[in-house]
Amino acid sequence: MFVVMIAPECAPVAKVGGLGDVVYGLSRELEIRGNAVEIILPKYDCLRVEHIWGLQPTWHDLRVPWFGGHIPCTVWFGFVDGRKCFFVEPHSPDRYFERGTFYGCGDDHLRFAFFTRAALEFMRCSGKRPEIVHSHDWQTALTAPILFELYQHQGMSAQRVCHTVHNFRHQGTAGPEILWATGLGRPEHFLDRERLGDDWHPGVVNFTKGAIVFANFITTVSPHHAWEARFTDQGFGLGPALARHHDKFGGILNGLDYEVWNPETDPHLAAHYSVETVERKAENTRALRHRLWLRESAGPLVAFVGRLDPQKGLHLVKHALDHSLRQGAQFVLLGSSPDRAIDEEFRFVKHVYNDNPDCHLEIGFDEGLAHLIYAAADLVVVPSLYEPCGLPQMIALRYGTVPIVRRVGGLANTVFDRDWSERPPEERNGWVFEHPDFPGIESAMDRAFALWRDDPPAFRAFARQGMRCDYSWRVPGEHYLRVYEHIRHK
Ligand code: ADP
Repeated sequence: MFVVMIAPECAPVAKVGGLGDVVYGLSRELEIRGNAVEIILPKYDCLRVEHIWGLQPTWHDLRVPWFGGHIPCTVWFGFVDGRKCFFVEPHSPDRYFERGTFYGCGDDHLRFAFFTRAALEFMRCSGKRPEIVHSHDWQTALTAPILFELYQHQGMSAQRVCHTVHNFRHQGTAGPEILWATGLGRPEHFLDRERLGDDWHPGVVNFTKGAIVFANFITTVSPHHAWEARFTDQGFGLGPALARHHDKFGGILNGLDYEVWNPETDPHLAAHYSVETVERKAENTRALRHRLWLRESAGPLVAFVGRLDPQKGLHLVKHALDHSLRQGAQFVLLGSSPDRAIDEEFRFVKHVYNDNPDCHLEIGFDEGLAHLIYAAADLVVVPSLYEPCGLPQMIALRYGTVPIVRRVGGLANTVFDRDWSERPPEERNGWVFEHPDFPGIESAMDRAFALWRDDPPAFRAFARQGMRCDYSWRVPGEHYLRVYEHIRHK
């Protein structure tokens, strides 16, 4: 099968969060299984070009229709760790992708609607006719409406669209001008609630709603989150639309890239190890303590790695830090936030604990340090309020680090409580709590600390059991292919 991904991110050249990892990891898995995959991305000025091999212009005179005129674009091609990637570079005074940042501009809706139109125009001109076009998140959610409304009769009637929602909170909204910009036009037609019209704000175009209505299949990134999006407030207003289209909506768990995240080969570790040699984790713990000026300690090392976003349950992260120190454990945090207030809040916490030899906060983004932390820690906390899938718990399991998570979204599909789960004991792999409050997280942490303290061999055996879980792309890859096959023949 030939699949084209239209995406705003692809790790490691353009990665903000899990979306970038998914686009890369899924594409790789599909190719391993004998499919052809090409990825179309914006040519951001902040691309990490050192990760692109052979980057060169491949299409010079792409004229992308925009607001009744055209924007000329150059399309570049290069390999990103073996994946075939195209990068769209528009030449206009708007400089859509020359902002020094991926997101966060006032005209993001225009930037990404333009990119979506450009990606489809490039496919038309260059004769790309994949069986499946896979779009990702609000940024490229207009793929299905634009493809079916504008390109259907331009030789692209056989293409089918799968759209993945990585985060329902960000849906992409704009006024009717976006319809003129993209060439869709006809506001009275498209603003209808049965098409692109937002269910709650008359006159507003909702990009993700457009994908739900027009795409052949919509997925989100875990089965439990698919349920939450339909039946709780976690659909952020899209629940009724999902209910209307429930027969083409489902959850597929993200996979983890087991090449990148492999404790047997990871170049960022001080010592490599496998399920048989998990005791060598201790060498990584020593290396991390040395690197972060932590003292040697007989207590467990607890870690948090992630964006410092309220969605991650930041009050619980801070409480996990306090509670760890109170219980004789050490705590390491690696995280960053584009939000000034949150960034300062955590810098203040860092300042408070500056001289504490059992605690370190690293405010920033550091891929290498993240790898070492996962290898060095005994426990990782993921106390999210909202978590469509979540990668830290899967990474932790792969590295023999036991996750402590809140039972929400993808966390509920991947971590099973050692003491309370309905799963058989041999499938349990962590500690889970329900309520996003202090007693909730403490109860889970205390059970973890107790096993660590009272029965170290049992703790190690439990960590090893977690390492045997398979959260690679093997199973999710199969599921996506099943979806592609299903819509391909419709
Ligand atoms: P989200 O997409 O909401 O950010 P995910 O859990 O899906 O959350 O993915 C987060 C990924 O980004 C993980 O691989 C995590 O380790 C990584 N990550 C997040 N923040 C940092 C950071 N400050 N430094 C290094 N890696 C980070």
